[in-house]
Amino acid sequence: MHLILNDEMGWIEVVTGSMFSGKSEELIRRMRRAKFANLEIIVFKHISDTRYDDTKVTSHSQVFIEAIPSSGVNEMRQIINDRYKNVKVVGIDEVQFFGDEVVDFCEELADKGIRVVVAGLDQDFRGEPFKPMDRLMAKAEYVDKFNAICVCCGNPASRTQRLVNGEPAYEDDPIVLVGASESYEPRCRKCHCVKKRG
Ligand code: ZN
Repeated sequence: MHLILNDEMGWIEVVTGSMFSGKSEELIRRMRRAKFANLEIIVFKHISDTRYDDTKVTSHSQVFIEAIPSSGVNEMRQIINDRYKNVKVVGIDEVQFFGDEVVDFCEELADKGIRVVVAGLDQDFRGEPFKPMDRLMAKAEYVDKFNAICVCCGNPASRTQRLVNGEPAYEDDPIVLVGASESYEPRCRKCHCVKKRG
């Protein structure tokens, strides 16, 4: 995939797309290949992401890799400085949880000669760019965007539909809805729906 001319050269790879598009699976695949090549690797996940397991990144198809849960950029930097001084490949799953400062952190690693592989959502449920993925995609050397399959019509799905009590969410619905049952599904441009009040 990548032609490497200088092994001191770092870069940023972004794996993005809607929910259920296989982002984590692709991140895991790349990190495992680096491991098979005997490169020292580390995978981070956000501490709030406990969907399947606390210390693994797991794809929807149950492929997994060991990961270190982290609360933020300072902690990830500390862990690398303390225990992974010779790391060659750094993976970060659900990178959008880490806020804007993760962009500079990825740049800092790549500038030091580290290959950085990040996976995360490119759009929120409204179809708007998800920060800081928009900046990361601009700064990255490589961007791969994946589609899921639309649950309504079977076409490639680039968006994530938010449902509240089974109905499309309003654009201004709060992120946390107390007492409501909430779910997400992949949808195409045509079937994606964001309700507006009034
Ligand atoms: Zn559709």
